[in-house]
Amino acid sequence: MNSNEIEIHKELKKYFGFSQFKGLQEQVITSILGKKNTFVIMPTGGGKSLCYQLPALIQEGTAIVVSPLIALMKNQVDAIRSLSSENGIAHVLNSSLTKTEITQVKKDITSGLTKLLYVAPESLTKEEYVAFLQSVPISFVAIDEAHCISEWGHDFRPEYRNLKNIIKQLGKVPIIGLTATATPKVQEDILKNLEMSDANTFKASFNRPNLYYEVRTKTKNIESDIIRFIKQHKGKSGIIYCLSRKKVESVAEVLQVNGISAVPYHAGLDAKTRAKHQDMFLMEDVDVVVATIAFGMGIDKPDVRFVIHHDIPKSLESYYQETGRAGRDGGEGHCLAYYSYKDVEKLEKFMSGKPVAEQEIGFALLQEVVAYAETSMSRRKFLLHYFGEEFDGENGEGADMDDNVRNPKTRIEAKEQVVKL
Ligand code: ADP
Ligand code: MG
Repeated sequence: MNSNEIEIHKELKKYFGFSQFKGLQEQVITSILGKKNTFVIMPTGGGKSLCYQLPALIQEGTAIVVSPLIALMKNQVDAIRSLSSENGIAHVLNSSLTKTEITQVKKDITSGLTKLLYVAPESLTKEEYVAFLQSVPISFVAIDEAHCISEWGHDFRPEYRNLKNIIKQLGKVPIIGLTATATPKVQEDILKNLEMSDANTFKASFNRPNLYYEVRTKTKNIESDIIRFIKQHKGKSGIIYCLSRKKVESVAEVLQVNGISAVPYHAGLDAKTRAKHQDMFLMEDVDVVVATIAFGMGIDKPDVRFVIHHDIPKSLESYYQETGRAGRDGGEGHCLAYYSYKDVEKLEKFMSGKPVAEQEIGFALLQEVVAYAETSMSRRKFLLHYFGEEFDGENGEGADMDDNVRNPKTRIEAKEQVVKL
């Protein structure tokens, strides 16, 4: 190790208490400290936050962190403050602050105390903030969830498109883009929009070798099939995703009637019930949560043993995110999706009310899901290829962990194989 490496290891320990970097963190941090534009693609849970937090803490000036969700920003600011005796080390700048609070934030930045300033993209466009930020030293701008820039991402936010213009007004500051969306199209969009084709790019593997991928044809008997599956995983935690609130309610009820402890979760339930059901799942008072995609953001239960898609997801990114909630601890994680072309038509009908450009993107993303469901090749290879990653289907880690590979002949046999797992 040279002296710089020793230095950042020491700071890692000092601020975060970790003795080792995870994955590509060290390389990313070295790039940022070298004042280079940097692009980081790592799966959820990969440790992206630390990639900008550590260099922000040890550099001169304030780092601006753009993040789409106020709740996420607040969590991060609290986490950073807990590492330090100074509250002013991290701040959020958003529309909910009072005048007095804004004055305090500005004071802390000007005095050099604030190392991280979290802002929502819409706040960053405010002229008075821009004028202020021009007058203070900025170490870099980190754009978290950078896929929000792209219409091809799963969470397009038009305000993100304007960020580059504002950053330009701040002078020559390095930009760090971070995302867990790995499709080549989204990556291209991000680099183009942020005008950083010169960026040092760091991409971690998206392979999750402990996850087993399986697709079953959806029939009328889907509910009894699911019940059988859950009974084979007795006492294990699992999530079942459904497309509609109504389906969530009816599946949860069928499971309950059949002696499985399950609760529903969707945005139609009041906040108190939602929080209660989420806690019951986390505390293992129930085994199964039946949910719409409203469930899962920020859920960090390490021992989810299965994720079932009762209905197909609208894109492979969503599928990867949702199945990614299984097996976080490295243990077994069975990802089972039910597929019927009728569901595809249903989703297409949903989309037909949307603007044409959005529809086209939606259809294209959906076609990839169809291709995944219908493929006879290694599902892991298919998924990773979609994320621009070549997977060695023979010797790669987890190569035999899907229905197509384990049993290439018929679906019936593939089912029997699962029972033996
Ligand atoms: P991402 O934003 O990529 O989804 P996070 O930044 O939220 O991931 O980090 C995920 C988890 O990994 C956090 O609990 C964080 O504390 C932990 N983590 C990050 N870096 C390290 C490290 N070097 N050693 C151990 N744990 C780490
Ligand atoms: Mg993150």
